[in-house]
Amino acid sequence: MYDMVNLYECVQYIRELVKEKGFEDECTDKVLFGKGLFAIMELSEAMEIIKKHGVETLKVSKHAREEVQEELIDSIFYLLDLYGILQRDIPLEVPDKVFMDKLKKNKQRNFQYGRPELVQYKSEKNDIK
Ligand SMILES: [Mg+2]
Repeated sequence: MYDMVNLYECVQYIRELVKEKGFEDECTDKVLFGKGLFAIMELSEAMEIIKKHGVETLKVSKHAREEVQEELIDSIFYLLDLYGILQRDIPLEVPDKVFMDKLKKNKQRNFQYGRPELVQYKSEKNDIK
């Protein structure tokens, strides 16, 4: 079993981790861009594993799934580190509040918002049938 955590706690855990490991960074443009870049790199690693194995393999390979999930969480760690630095020094709102506010905002958007090509594709597809 595992402990459930909220985003606020996740940010605090990452702050503790970076302090323990000597990576408590200052809030500078360079540091923030670096954290963002590392988050993208970790995400790329996850995508590489998906590309290498394919979804069907992921469904049956625990090892492949573990690789993907670990890289995705690595990416989230960097995002939480970035968020925590900003929250510490700027400061930002508590991430849980921002998450819920943004979720509400996105729920108010239209079906398949921002993807007009999907709506176009589906209407064309339905014309064919
Ligand atoms: Mg990694």
